[in-house]
Amino acid sequence: CQKELRRLEHLNLLGQMSASIAHEIRNPLQTVKGFLQLLQSKEGISPYQTHFILMIDELNRANQIITELLCLSRTKPTNLKLHNINDIINSVLPLIEAQALEEDKIIIVEQKAVSITLLDEDEIKQVLLNIVKNALEASKSKGCVKIITESNQTSVKLIICDNGQGIPPELQDNIGMPFFTTKQNGTGLGLSMSLSILERHNAKLDFVSDKNGTSFFIIFPIVE
Ligand code: ADP
Ligand code: MG
Repeated sequence: CQKELRRLEHLNLLGQMSASIAHEIRNPLQTVKGFLQLLQSKEGISPYQTHFILMIDELNRANQIITELLCLSRTKPTNLKLHNINDIINSVLPLIEAQALEEDKIIIVEQKAVSITLLDEDEIKQVLLNIVKNALEASKSKGCVKIITESNQTSVKLIICDNGQGIPPELQDNIGMPFFTTKQNGTGLGLSMSLSILERHNAKLDFVSDKNGTSFFIIFPIVE
């Protein structure tokens, strides 16, 4: 619980700081990217084509990090409305399935939740995409990711399980810390962004993991 509190303090501080600088950084990045694209089109098939592609890719990556940082801050008020979580899953499923198919993995969906609860549709889509993306990235080809929903009188539960490599016990305390990543090209912001969104929903995020796979559990309270 103490750890959870420390994590949330970290997130709030990071959110406030990033909101104020992110916009300022994004504008010059956009300008540089624009000029690079202009030069690229003027240079035709110059010997520097691959350099241009790399530079633009790197700028896109920087831009992505800023987007994720902004998501940590409360720049946009949460738009909570009554939703069945299954409808939100169905709206992102084509995207998720396309990604899985490309990597020769399968997605299994078991939608057993019947209750509706207060959700911000865009934000919950983002959480789903982040956690499923991690699950797909953790599993080898022929891997399988399950998305399960359940509900009872007091809560709606969303479970995302994979049969990937798991999170080593010594790293489990770092999960959700901003910038914690074990990936070459990771930002380490996906889960902290999700935590921050779920905090605004009064929802709880938990996980269990061993070398046979990882399951993430999200519990949304049903409010009267
Ligand atoms: P990123 O995906 O950019 O690394 P995240 O915040 O999404 O950042 O995840 C942080 C880290 O948590 C990952 O780098 C990975 O080590 C670990 N992780 C998250 N989900 C899983 C999973 N399903 N299986 C194994 N490791 C995971
Ligand atoms: Mg991720």
